[in-house]
Amino acid sequence: MPHPMIVAPDTDWRERAACLPYPSVLFFGVDDSEPPAEKRAREERAKRVCATCGVRQECLEYAIATKEQYGIWGGMTELERKAYLRARSARR
Ligand code: SF4
Repeated sequence: MPHPMIVAPDTDWRERAACLPYPSVLFFGVDDSEPPAEKRAREERAKRVCATCGVRQECLEYAIATKEQYGIWGGMTELERKAYLRARSARR
């Protein structure tokens, strides 16, 4: 049986998210026209918020379980989440 987090992700952690007071655009950007340098700077600002977050692991697991394609979740970009998942799978 799959892990319950995958079947029915627990979302209570959202109430304790450090990003609640911040606009979602900080974590997701506006659209694909965002210049790469601005995107990197924005993502670094978002990650600094995540670094203070007490539910970072829950957020990351949720993003992985729901295959989130966009945005910073758990302090990671989509590419970083994929790399994290690959590394974790390789350890098992
Ligand atoms: S880890 Fe980052 S994106 Fe996730 S809840 Fe915390 S502050 Fe928000």
